[in-house]
Amino acid sequence: MKIHEYQAKELFRKFNIPVARSGVAFSKEEALKISVGLGGFPVVVKAQIHAGGRGKGGGVKLAANPEQVLTIAEQFLGMTLVTHQTGSEGRIVRKVLVEAGQSIDKEYYLSLLVDRQTEKIVIMASQAGGIDIENVAEKTPEKIFKVYVDPLLGIQGYQMREVGFRLGFPAPAMKQLYGMLFNLYKFFVEYDASLVEINPLILTSGGTVLALDAKVDFDSNALYRHKDLLEFRDFGEEDPMEVDASRYSLNYINLDGNVGNIVNGAGLAMATMDIIKNAGATPANFMDVGGGASSEQVENAFRIILADPKVKAILINIFGGILRCDVFARGVVEAAKKTGVNIPVVVRMEGTNVEMGKQILAESGLNLTSASDLLDAAAKIAAAVN
Ligand code: GDP
Ligand code: MN
Repeated sequence: MKIHEYQAKELFRKFNIPVARSGVAFSKEEALKISVGLGGFPVVVKAQIHAGGRGKGGGVKLAANPEQVLTIAEQFLGMTLVTHQTGSEGRIVRKVLVEAGQSIDKEYYLSLLVDRQTEKIVIMASQAGGIDIENVAEKTPEKIFKVYVDPLLGIQGYQMREVGFRLGFPAPAMKQLYGMLFNLYKFFVEYDASLVEINPLILTSGGTVLALDAKVDFDSNALYRHKDLLEFRDFGEEDPMEVDASRYSLNYINLDGNVGNIVNGAGLAMATMDIIKNAGATPANFMDVGGGASSEQVENAFRIILADPKVKAILINIFGGILRCDVFARGVVEAAKKTGVNIPVVVRMEGTNVEMGKQILAESGLNLTSASDLLDAAAKIAAAVN
C-alpha cells in the first residue's frame, strides 16, 4: 500500500527522522493559512499524488509570498498532473503539501528496500540525488551503491559509516545521517515497509540533514498488524476496479489486453495468462478468485470483468479442488444472468463435481463455449477476439 508524501512525513516525525515543517491543504485558503504559519517565505507547494517525477512534471513550485501560494495552490488543486510515472492519463491532484522552503547545499539519494535475492534489506544511496536519479541509474549506475543489512542482526554501526563515507558526507553532518539511518531502518522494519525512498535527502546550507521527499510503500499482507496505517489508504489513487475487487477479497490486477480471465489460484492464473499470450491474444486482467471462493465472489469477479469496456471475451479456467465446479458454475450463471453478458465466454473446467458444473452451465441457456483442455481454451479464446 502506497501512501502520500505528507503521510510519510507525519510518520517520519514520530520516528525522529528529520523533515521540514509542513502541512497538508485541501483548499487554497488552507494552503495560505499553513504558509503563513510556517513563519517565513519562500515556501514550497507540492502536489500530492502517488507517483514521483512531480518536480519535472510541474507539481512542485516555490512560492515567494502569500499571493503566490494562493495562485499555485489554485492551479494545482484539481489539475491532472502527468509525470513519467503516472502514464499519459496522469493523476488528479486533490491535496497539496505546503512546506518551509529550504536552502539546499547538496541533494543525495537514499532508499531502503527488501532484496528478495539476498533476503536482506538493502540500502541504496548516491551522491547524485535529485530529480535526475532515473538518468543516473540508467547511464551511470556505478554512482549508486548498495549496503545489505541482515534483518536478523539489524543495521550495524559500520554499515551506517559505510553509507556516510561513500556519500562523501561532510564530517560535521555525519552524526545526523547516522541517526537518520538508524531511525529509518527502525521505521522500515516496525511498519513492514517494502520501500522507503528519500530523494532528495538534503544537506541545507546551514548544515542540517533533512528528508525533503518521502515515498513509502508497505507490504499489504502485513497491514493487519498496522491498523493505524489503514486510515492512510487513499482510494482515489487506486484503480476503481481493483478497489472493487479488494472488497470481495479477489486478487485482481487490471492489465491492458482484451481477454478477461477468471481463474482459481494464482499459479494457474499466471499459467492462464501465459497461454493466452501464446495463442496470440493478450490478457485484460489477472483475476484469482482463490481456492475457496464462494459463488458470491465468483459472481462479483464476473461482474467486475464484464464492466471493463476493453474486455472482448472471457476465459474461465477452473481447477475444482476446494472450490467445487458446481459452486463455481452457479456463480457464473447468476452473474451472467444479472449482467446480461453479450461477449463470448469460453469455459475450461476440471476437478471436483465437474459433471455437475458442466450440466449447470449447459442448462443455463447461456451462450458459453466449452473447452476440453488448456490449449483448446486458449485457441478458442484467441479465435473469439482476433
Ligand atoms: P518529485 O519530483 O516528485 O520527486 O518531488 P520532490 O519532492 O523530490 O521535489 C522535486 C525537487 O524540488 C527536489 O529535488 C528539489 O530540487 C526541489 N525542492 C523541493 N523542496 C525544495 C525546497 O524547499 N527548496 C528548494 N530550493 N528546492 C526544493
Ligand atoms: Mn523526489
